Amino acid sequence: MDDKKKVVIDPEKCKLSGECMKVCPEKAIYVKDGKAVIDYDKCTLDGICIPACPNGAIREIE
Ligand code: SF4
Repeated sequence: MDDKKKVVIDPEKCKLSGECMKVCPEKAIYVKDGKAVIDYDKCTLDGICIPACPNGAIREIE
């Protein structure tokens, strides 16, 4: 795994659909202050949650 890469959720775009939490095989996404956030101790960067978000809030960054 490339440590520089990261999957991030934009809190401005997150509408808490919960779709990312349903698909994450690691159960790495939880809710904090009404927004979905990723637990990087669990996230494997598989990217499964990225297309699952109906609001386009999740993306991979370098
Ligand atoms: S990239 Fe994969 S492991 Fe990380 S939060 Fe998204 S679905 Fe879960």
